[in-house]
Amino acid sequence: MKTLTDKVAIVTGASKGIGAAIAKSFAREGAAVVVNYATSSSDADSVVAEITDAGGRAIAIQASVSEPCAVKRLFQETKEAFGKLDVLVNNAGVFKFEPFEAITVAEFQREFSTNVLGTILTIQEAIEQFGFEGGSVINLSSLAGSHSLPQGVLYSATKAAVESITQGLSAELGDRRIRVNAIAPGYTRSEGTVAEGLFGEESVKLYLSLTPLARIGEPVDIARVATFLASDASAWITGETIRVAGGAR
Ligand code: NDP
Repeated sequence: MKTLTDKVAIVTGASKGIGAAIAKSFAREGAAVVVNYATSSSDADSVVAEITDAGGRAIAIQASVSEPCAVKRLFQETKEAFGKLDVLVNNAGVFKFEPFEAITVAEFQREFSTNVLGTILTIQEAIEQFGFEGGSVINLSSLAGSHSLPQGVLYSATKAAVESITQGLSAELGDRRIRVNAIAPGYTRSEGTVAEGLFGEESVKLYLSLTPLARIGEPVDIARVATFLASDASAWITGETIRVAGGAR
């Protein structure tokens, strides 16, 4: 029995990395999936093709999560395509690791607009669209959300905000049967982390030493837990941040 049959999900930032793995996992479990992306249309199309070739349902919709009009359009087009919404995954996220003195106003605005404002704007639209049965919101935090990293203080601050939004909103929206949870991945290989230079030889040695299960995380490790949080198997869980990090903290 598939766990997400008849559910409709939006996964933001699903053209790559963790988001792409979540979209594919949801579709395998029977959900119709919106593969949202900002700029990488061919990557999003490949994710959609992989899903539809396997008999699943998916469409790609371009929209930057930090732009209110684009977010409204994302949700309208989802409704037109699939008629309803059950699950929102706020996965779209950006990061840059650099010394504190190097942080610029532009980088502050880029990280907070995508990671925090984007999370707020999409949840506001989702609340409008979830039906009487409520819905499941899954926000991507990070180990950095509870343990600020040297040279990653700005990014850590955005993820701490995501965890605060998760906990506060779970209380505010519970009576509407809307569950709000977060996943805090550990060191996970993705297009973004590799491009940012976070998986050099020395870094990998460090991550392995900090990770009891002694390997690097893969996007599918995160996708499995997102699929659980989207499903009715997690119906009694809200307001939680679940570390998915091989034991790293
Ligand atoms: P990637 O950089 O590999 O992928 C990021 C995705 O987000 C892309 O699909 C990108 O789309 C999309 N995106 C970026 N900005 C926007 C925007 N404004 N609107 C819509 N989509 C956008 O990231 P990861 O897979 O590594 O990370 C995914 C999430 O997991 C992030 O929130 C990240 O902070 C979190 N995380 C990741 C960890 C890791 O080790 N990988 C560890 C802890 C947390 P496009 O390509 O079109 O620009």
